Amino acid sequence: MDTAIDRIPNKYDRRAMTVEQARALLLGRVQPVQAVEVDLVDALGRRLAASVRTEEPIPHFRRSGMDGYAVRTSDLANVRAAAPAELEIIEQIPCGVEPQYKIAKGQAARIMTGGMVPEGADAVIMQEMTELLESEGRSIVRIQKKVAPGTNVTPIGEEADEGTLVLEAGERIGAGHTAILASLGYSRVSVYRRPKVAVLSTGTELLQLSDPLQMGKIRNSNAYMLAAQIIAAGGTPQLVGQIPDDYARAERMLYDLLASDVDLIVTTGGVSVGDYDIMADFFLRWEGKTLFNKIAMRPGSPTTAGSWRDKLLFGLSGNPSACFVGFELFVRPVIQQLQGAVFNPAKTVTCRLAVDYKKVNAYPRYVRGYWYSAEGEHYAKPVGRDKSSAILSLKDANCLIVIPPTKTGLSSGEIVQIIPLDGAMST
Ligand code: AMP
Ligand code: MG
Repeated sequence: MDTAIDRIPNKYDRRAMTVEQARALLLGRVQPVQAVEVDLVDALGRRLAASVRTEEPIPHFRRSGMDGYAVRTSDLANVRAAAPAELEIIEQIPCGVEPQYKIAKGQAARIMTGGMVPEGADAVIMQEMTELLESEGRSIVRIQKKVAPGTNVTPIGEEADEGTLVLEAGERIGAGHTAILASLGYSRVSVYRRPKVAVLSTGTELLQLSDPLQMGKIRNSNAYMLAAQIIAAGGTPQLVGQIPDDYARAERMLYDLLASDVDLIVTTGGVSVGDYDIMADFFLRWEGKTLFNKIAMRPGSPTTAGSWRDKLLFGLSGNPSACFVGFELFVRPVIQQLQGAVFNPAKTVTCRLAVDYKKVNAYPRYVRGYWYSAEGEHYAKPVGRDKSSAILSLKDANCLIVIPPTKTGLSSGEIVQIIPLDGAMST
């Protein structure tokens, strides 16, 4: 597959690769970046650089699940309302305190939720099922009901034995991971450093954000959209600039970037077959290896990528929606794999189309969509204008709807797969 591009003589004669082939080609070249240590409170959203095993069983002592009394169930074998057991309370066991005594026949200990169940006891009977008596200066608990051994006692290792693999390298740290790390005593966590991703925008029409609009020119929205996508994927964007469609200048900048310490370079614009499509020219002439310059998909079929030494260079389309989709399908998995994640192609959801989709296409289409559930089923519908130049509809998309090649279009109710856009959404 690596040699696919060798057959491509110029930018007008391109052979399309499938999305899956192109992604496999890219991911086969990505090794994780180095690990760094961060405070646990700063680890949210980062990816673990090392797997985590328990060093002790969880829990590591027999723990009471109730406020009540630790008892020997053998003392309650014959109790009933008319013949309750009366057990002597020999100790109070709050949380965090080791019991001093073993419970002997006829004895019980007052215990709180989370307290350590004393030796000799094999159940905790909840407070509400008991009656407390004082008799000759001694505290007595009266119990009218039997309980089974083990009731309200969490055994040692119920959740995990010592040495259990509880977190794997590459997992993204959420609140649940944080709880596990904290309970295992990790105040510092080894995570992958954030990959540095350079963003270079090309296009003579591009204005800076603060520039007033001029006829025929537009502000550079892609660079900022990509920065947001890079951050959501766990990377650090470096907006290295925007340049006109000037080949020599682009070439100089790209070689400088390739030799710099960034982990990845993403360009927008100029990958198509137009007269000023300088990125397409660069990918034909450069010293690196162009992996693909056409993908069987819409939008973004001229999406291009190559490698120079061990660094990947992406040429995304300038059309905002094509740029967005190209990032989600190809750049996001690379940024995630740079942080030890394993790309999971099965992360799609089966939905029914909520409306007709009557566009005919020879290539699969990745349509910006909105998916939701109603009456126990998942539905998806396109949002806004389905044009690769559209900007306004992007913010409402929570998925990409995958429309397979079709000569007739799809009808409402037909089954489609969607790719959720978890990280890209604002909420
Ligand atoms: P290109 O990929 O260079 O052929 O550009 C396709 C379309 O995307 C053109 O209409 C460009 O003006 C537009 N475009 C290119 N770069 C950007 C950018 N950075 N932000 C917004 N639109 C862009
Ligand atoms: Mg252009």
